[in-house]
Amino acid sequence: MNLDNLYREIIMEHYKNPRNKGLLDDERYHKIRIKNPSCGDDITIQTLVEDDIIKDCRQEATGCSISVASASVLTEIMIGKPVEEALSLAENFLNMVSNKEFNHDMDLEEAEVFSGVKQFPARIKCASIAWVAFKDSLESE
Ligand code: ZN
Repeated sequence: MNLDNLYREIIMEHYKNPRNKGLLDDERYHKIRIKNPSCGDDITIQTLVEDDIIKDCRQEATGCSISVASASVLTEIMIGKPVEEALSLAENFLNMVSNKEFNHDMDLEEAEVFSGVKQFPARIKCASIAWVAFKDSLESE
């Protein structure tokens, strides 16, 4: 199995079994919703920060497989991370999928599966939405 197939399989697995799905009615969480009209993606990310650590990260995502899987992978990676590290990971991920300069030494964990998206300009937004919403949720106080 080549890497592209493996990555596609991981994306489909997250699409079918999204992690940390469902929003909480808890005002300690910060919530950001972003839509991508060009492909019907509708993503909401909720974050809970305590002592500069991402204590929890929830998502509610509908749309294409890339956008839904991206939200799922994001939540898994971010829970437990210090805020500063989480922000630089998100920045690095967004640069990677946009085909910009990014830090290859930084471990993007399972989010590496989206590295091929840069070859498909129409899908860059799909992969990015959850990560932009995540960053916005941390920056909205
Ligand atoms: Zn999409």
